[in-house]
Amino acid sequence: MPSDTKIEISASLLRKLHRIHRQRADLAAQIARGPRQITAGESLVAKAEENLQSLKDTLKKANLVSDEKQLQLKSREAQIDQLQTKLNTAASNREFNLLKDQIAADKQANSVLSDEILEAMDHIDGLETKLKDVTAELENQQSDQKTRITEVEAKTSELQGELARVNAELEQSEEQIPGAVMVEYRRVIKAKGEEALAPVEDESCGGCYQVLTTQYIDRLRMSVLIRCPNCNAFLYMPESTRV
Ligand SMILES: [Zn+2]
Repeated sequence: MPSDTKIEISASLLRKLHRIHRQRADLAAQIARGPRQITAGESLVAKAEENLQSLKDTLKKANLVSDEKQLQLKSREAQIDQLQTKLNTAASNREFNLLKDQIAADKQANSVLSDEILEAMDHIDGLETKLKDVTAELENQQSDQKTRITEVEAKTSELQGELARVNAELEQSEEQIPGAVMVEYRRVIKAKGEEALAPVEDESCGGCYQVLTTQYIDRLRMSVLIRCPNCNAFLYMPESTRV
């Protein structure tokens, strides 16, 4: 049942209050979006940094492997030279043949190693090309983030200006709320935000769709303050309905 205490409040004031509360909620949501956009951008930059670091590590390892193989090649070439000298002064056929076999084996091993070095260098070339791309990607992400921060800051300051204007409008409108409902109004606004008010739509509460009895509707038409029996919202007649 509607409350027996008949407090009169105009539908236009409730409409206005609801419109302002919706605007405030919308502005607050837009303002809250800014930091989330910046955080998301930070993740993109961090990911690009991670990719670059990982590629640098891979490249460093590939260079180490290649350097090691080249050292090994040089040392074996020196060994072959030494064996060649020994071969030239071999005291016996047996020593000669042993040295010859050793030289052949070392040359074969070096041929395999040379191929491996070429492969390693190709791999390094590929990694260096990729490094340029990944570095460019990081620079793009950093530049995008810088732009993003500037845009979010400008937008936030604009939204905050708008919010201040809406808050001032709210304060002004709230002065017209009958004193007897003020405490309750504040409590419901605090608890439900913009859902503290609801228009009547098709004889139902526009907030929770609770069907309202004719008694409720009649009292509403007389500008009596009515709360939705289900969701407790302050009900009002929408503009299209003539009161
Ligand atoms: Zn309701």
